[in-house]
Amino acid sequence: MSAASASETTKSGVQRVDVAVVGAGFAGLYLLHRLRNAGLSAVALDAANDVGGTWYWNRYPGARCDIQTTDYSYTFDPELEKAWAWSEKYATQPEILRYLDFVADRYDLRRDIRFGTKVTNATWDEAAEHWLLTTDNGAPVSCRHYIMATGCLSSPKPPEIDGVKDFKGKVYFTGRWPHEGVDFTGKPVAVIGTGSSGIQSIPLIAEQAAHLTVFQRTPNFALPAHNGPTPKDKAALLQGDRSGYREQARWSMAGVPLPQNTAYSWQLSDAERRARFEDAWATGDLVHMLTQLWADQGVDVDGNALLCELFREKIRGAVKDPETAATLTPHDHPFGSKRPCLDTNYYATFNRPNVTLVNLRQEPITSITATGIKTGKRTVDVDAIVFATGFDAMTGAILAVHPIVGRDGKTLAEAWANGPQTYLGLTVSGFPNLFMITGPGSPSVLSNMAVSIEQHVDWVVDRLIAMRDAGFSTIDATGAAQAGWVRHMADCATLTLHRLANTWYTGANVPGKVQGVMPYTGGVGPYRSICNDVVSRGMLGFRLTGPNGAAQCNDGEVVRLQPDVRLVLGMLAEMNLPPIESLGAHGARDFVNEFNEGRPAGRPVGDVVDGTLPGTDGPLPYRLYRPATPGPHPIVVYFHGGGWVLGDEQSDDPFCRDICRRSGMIVVSVGYRHAPEHRFPAAAEDAYAAARWIAAHAAELGGRPGPVLVAGWSAGGNIAAVTCQLARDRGGPQIDGQLLVCPVTDCTFDRPSYNDNATGFFLTRSLMFWFWDLYCSPADRVDPRVSPLRGKLEGLPPAYVVTCEFDPLRDEGIAYADALAAAGVPVQQLQAHGHFHSSFTMVDVVITSASGRAKMAEALRGFAGLPRQAERSDVEAWRRQDASPQQAAE
Ligand code: NAP
Repeated sequence: MSAASASETTKSGVQRVDVAVVGAGFAGLYLLHRLRNAGLSAVALDAANDVGGTWYWNRYPGARCDIQTTDYSYTFDPELEKAWAWSEKYATQPEILRYLDFVADRYDLRRDIRFGTKVTNATWDEAAEHWLLTTDNGAPVSCRHYIMATGCLSSPKPPEIDGVKDFKGKVYFTGRWPHEGVDFTGKPVAVIGTGSSGIQSIPLIAEQAAHLTVFQRTPNFALPAHNGPTPKDKAALLQGDRSGYREQARWSMAGVPLPQNTAYSWQLSDAERRARFEDAWATGDLVHMLTQLWADQGVDVDGNALLCELFREKIRGAVKDPETAATLTPHDHPFGSKRPCLDTNYYATFNRPNVTLVNLRQEPITSITATGIKTGKRTVDVDAIVFATGFDAMTGAILAVHPIVGRDGKTLAEAWANGPQTYLGLTVSGFPNLFMITGPGSPSVLSNMAVSIEQHVDWVVDRLIAMRDAGFSTIDATGAAQAGWVRHMADCATLTLHRLANTWYTGANVPGKVQGVMPYTGGVGPYRSICNDVVSRGMLGFRLTGPNGAAQCNDGEVVRLQPDVRLVLGMLAEMNLPPIESLGAHGARDFVNEFNEGRPAGRPVGDVVDGTLPGTDGPLPYRLYRPATPGPHPIVVYFHGGGWVLGDEQSDDPFCRDICRRSGMIVVSVGYRHAPEHRFPAAAEDAYAAARWIAAHAAELGGRPGPVLVAGWSAGGNIAAVTCQLARDRGGPQIDGQLLVCPVTDCTFDRPSYNDNATGFFLTRSLMFWFWDLYCSPADRVDPRVSPLRGKLEGLPPAYVVTCEFDPLRDEGIAYADALAAAGVPVQQLQAHGHFHSSFTMVDVVITSASGRAKMAEALRGFAGLPRQAERSDVEAWRRQDASPQQAAE
């Protein structure tokens, strides 16, 4: 430990420190401790009169944490962990405040905290390279670095309801509860709001009040906490290997060590799903319920809907009056997209004779009067109104407290006029030496905050130490790095269902706030590894400067891959697989078969039939996927990928099922012959023969007679393209459209994508060389039956060509699409950013490719002359399948 340099006061009465921190809650306290140990002088400023942050202000009845307290603790000091024992699974607010008090005392932190002090202005002084803070209480502060440890949920939302000032009774806000407590005994009381604060406080207020009227705008999902002592299994895990347990938490998705779920809802029977749900219900753990039921519960509307329905049954079972139960039952958002709550007796409270529920969707509040609350249908006179109406979350505490003026006089409010833009949720370009702990753009509220706070504090303080050691005095994120992070955030947001609900996660709870998913949805562990990457890649995306013109800027975007592609490639890299081409054809086939066995099974379709059809040199196997809808359906003849060497009619099974389900068409996947046993042009000729036969036997196959469509991925895309050329030149069959996904179209390897993506993205340059060598002799390679780009392109069926940014085949796919267009063929292109060669076939693994697959299905429908499905956005899908009778009536 190094001795902290002391804060000093200048002659002009300015307090000068290395680092100023706003907030003395979980984050501010740990920051002070670490800064001090790093030998940096620091002061923390807090409007409150003592430590605690959110736990200082939120003293309403029933306030507790809703992450198990053993997880919601500091882990930086094993001695601290030994010195404190929690009395309950979910500690109360007073106990958590006692803990923070204990921590402040143990590390003697209060001496560097100025309580009862708000920052009123913070301005960056470019010449002096420091921030100057003015305060409403005492000396201004000059600091090299300025850190917002303001919390994500600390700026309460104004009531937004007319007439609050006219009310003559008492008004309380859960987020600013009186320290002396409130006695509601014998009083008529109203609570507005049914988020976590409302759900925790309502049962206790109901026990005291003469009558409690709850005004609910949106019902929420709540599950019983089953509070009590720390569960034995959790305690045993911690006692067995505390540091291992903590390390697992740091690399987990939500900051709590739980396994990744691998079973998909459609692989489980109704009884199995129910058993998992009941187990989660009995466990009384939000993170468990949010992650442990089935793998698609948080990423897919259908998987989520199954869980919602089980939840609704519980509500109906707990609430005696069916109308009240219906009002309490959520229908407008997927489970988990809005913060679910942990409760103690919440639903049962509505069985009490002294509790009334008012549905604000049916009777909105029109005004608050001197005596109570008026809705369109009734007037409720009360002595007290409790606003449990929430917070201007994530940005509110940072923006609303005071202007933060960065470079060139630009305020943070101006920089965030279109929503919060950050680099890593830690910094904002143009605001040097400013850091946010758990800011927008970091996992924060979608995680165990204790874990995320420690990670941020450690990252920031480690950077400050490294800067000092290297002689740098300023650090600022570059615009390019920040823009890349904003895009990565948007990519991550498509992974989860958060975008489907109006919540404080998206800013929708505050009138006029710009909307967008604010927390990072890519998970705690992946986020941690990205932050580490930034450091190991030379502070990627940051400009550092120091005295005498010292400067360093390693500009760039830290994540260019889609988040799930990054995870998949990371897992593959960890497996340290030998190059596929080193396995020989048979070994490579075994490998692919084994690999495919480990992937999620494809989703159900109406029917799957295996058969054989005549190829050019003997029978070929096929697998037919039929939609569950009444036929006859148009037919898509599908050719699998595998470099003309690997795969079979089953190897792209999940992708074929997906095409079938989304397009509503029959997909016939053809098992054409492979190299090296059958070299060029066997695959192409088989494919053509299969297309002919399928078109001629469409009715027998249960399909719509007439033209067919073709589709294929990779080498399958190659032979789909070739089939179209052969069909045009050899008198049929009539093909009305071609879907080419990452196709091989040409025999040269000198396009940039071959070099840019030569290694590291699973399909490598050398693997492609191997495929070509096995399939086709150099002399044959310019033949259009293997290099369709070299063929005649006029008169071909309309095409939908998909290419992926990180694919050696990217540029030849684009070249083919461009050449088709130049030849007068109607072409649509999907150039998928952040994706790799296998993204679209890894259905239910690469979730971010789902929207692309939906577009492919639309294109196929267009080729077949089927009505375009109204763009089936997830939002519409959710609303359609989940509309409650009540909503339907509204
Ligand atoms: P919240 O989740 O935003 O809930 C606010 C409630 O007030 C919602 O039901 C909202 O309805 C309603 N509301 C807001 N404005 C309204 C208006 N003008 N008229 C009528 N109703 C209105 O806020 P919160 O309950 O304070 O919780 C915020 C977050 O803090 C939680 O999600 C959680 O992350 C954290 N928290 C945690 C705990 C814990 O157990 N550790 C406890 C409390 C809070 P709409 O849904 O329709 O907007």
